[in-house]
Amino acid sequence: MPELPEVETTRLGLVPLIDKTVASVIIRNASLRWPIPQNLPELLQGKTLRALSRRAKYILAHFDNGVLLLHLGMSGRICLLEQNEAPQKHDHFDIVFVNGQVLRLRDPRRFGAVLWAGDNPQEHMLLKVLGPEPLEQDFTADYLYRNIRTRSVAIKIAVMDSHLVVGVGNIYASESLFRARIHPERPAKSLSKAECARLVTEIKSTLSDALAAGGSSLRDFFGADGNPGYFQQQYFVYGRANDKAGEPCRVCGAPIKMIRQGQRSTFYCGSCQGLRRV
Ligand SMILES: [Zn+2]
Repeated sequence: MPELPEVETTRLGLVPLIDKTVASVIIRNASLRWPIPQNLPELLQGKTLRALSRRAKYILAHFDNGVLLLHLGMSGRICLLEQNEAPQKHDHFDIVFVNGQVLRLRDPRRFGAVLWAGDNPQEHMLLKVLGPEPLEQDFTADYLYRNIRTRSVAIKIAVMDSHLVVGVGNIYASESLFRARIHPERPAKSLSKAECARLVTEIKSTLSDALAAGGSSLRDFFGADGNPGYFQQQYFVYGRANDKAGEPCRVCGAPIKMIRQGQRSTFYCGSCQGLRRV
């Protein structure tokens, strides 16, 4: 699943489209996670893309008359084509620009989204419920401590909740908890203020490292320029164990463990990340 760094890489890859004007919009299959609005061609034709921003894993394309939200879902990718090429099976949506460039959404599993958010996107139902951005100043140790004090859920589950903080997906949750030396099954409310400080620091640095590397989460992930964004990142724990055995921890040599939490795989070192405290 594309995580925040992949989405940011995609956004950066689309920057050459800024100041370009829309010639046409092609909807081949509107049945994504939510239907693509049928009036998008009328809304966007003749309008110019003015800016591209990001909120959580949504790319916000700011046109003259409002904002288009783009989301990659589970398997989507957005390519910038220099000229119109014949669409393939899972190419559901195109924005064709006057200069011939094309923004194309390919999404085999169709959990992605293309939605019109008008001129007040922060009030859109999908955006207004989101917690702070992990790399922004308002995501602090104090904020985390205050907001998990009453939560009994495991800390790994808590940090992946976009109401608490956005953009901490499965890979970065496991990696940040390892780097902060916190067991993923610890009840969120059991973390001390010092542990919250370590975790916030490590979430920020783990994501910053991944952003610098151009995104890393999917073997078949491609940036907007069509080049593989997959970076052979040296994960500490993620993907380094299965049900039966684990590779040695890069810090202490103990075998990495894998467990299931909330239907997702969690990876951790039982030695570096201490005993589960309940
Ligand atoms: Zn270890």
